[in-house]
Amino acid sequence: MEKFAIGVDLGGSNLRIGAYTSSGEALASVAFPTDAGSGYGPVIDKMCEAIRALHAETSGYGKFAGIGVGSPGPLSLPDGVLHNPPNLPGWDGVQLRREMSNRLAWPVWVDSDANVAALAECRLGAAAEYDIDSLCMITLGTGVGGGIVLEGRLWHGMNGGAGEVGHGPLILDGPKCNCGARGCLELYASATAIVRRAHELKLDGVPHDANDACANAFTAADVAQLAAQGNPVARQIYDEAGFALGLGIANLINTLNLPLFTIGGGVSAAWDLFSPRMFATIEEFSYVYGMSRPAQVDIFEAGKTHICRARLGPDAGLLGAAMLPWQTARHHALSSAG
Ligand SMILES: [Zn+2]
Repeated sequence: MEKFAIGVDLGGSNLRIGAYTSSGEALASVAFPTDAGSGYGPVIDKMCEAIRALHAETSGYGKFAGIGVGSPGPLSLPDGVLHNPPNLPGWDGVQLRREMSNRLAWPVWVDSDANVAALAECRLGAAAEYDIDSLCMITLGTGVGGGIVLEGRLWHGMNGGAGEVGHGPLILDGPKCNCGARGCLELYASATAIVRRAHELKLDGVPHDANDACANAFTAADVAQLAAQGNPVARQIYDEAGFALGLGIANLINTLNLPLFTIGGGVSAAWDLFSPRMFATIEEFSYVYGMSRPAQVDIFEAGKTHICRARLGPDAGLLGAAMLPWQTARHHALSSAG
């Protein structure tokens, strides 16, 4: 009998819900604004109502495996308890998994948005293409997120803190980060960081007052466009991002020795601008990469360290959320029994 699951991509601005088969085929989906300001209760009510409607629409497809949710962090796992999430103000302490289980008759799994994107890349993206089942994914968006999949399963660590690659401190005298540390990867390779550097370096064509509305509309993609046109300051900004990413990935390669490191999120579209410095830095700082470098970086070889762009684009979070019931089914059965 065919199986399907429902995934939820709970974003600070938009909420997307989709029903997918176990092989990632889309059955139906719905999207609406999160309206996080209305408080977590009404948002979760509306989300669960939409899940019930989608289930009713797709239930003829086959056996229903349950619901997976990708949520902004920080959150502790596996209970999905939110800790002052910057993208969901007022949701501190919300027990997302329990709130949803109380409203729905089906099993619910919660994970971080970066982790579910990594799971999707593993099951349906680059790792699937290379027929491997372990990877580390780095997501370059407003912040820098990460997820680690080992032999087909997300590695959460003890409390769900594993894979926080965006807050690996890299530059000792770097700027202060929201996480309390200094010089984190997120401060160099996120979209936010690229726009901040454009203001700091007074990039031509960029409004210099970071507080005016026009300045705020300036994006990392605008910097990428200027860099592609040859603007030296814009190129420097992406070169710096490549250096920081290279240091971060060198640490990850030396720690994890995985076959695949994949880079997704909006900033990854500027791959051609940041990847030359990224690869050069990895070569310089990771002796493990030196031992396992493929003959050509864009051709996969078994037993080598491969670093590439993510394959799935903006749907990775939704798809990965819908994959959660498949990968955690066994773990859930064990922990429920205990
Ligand atoms: Zn940090």
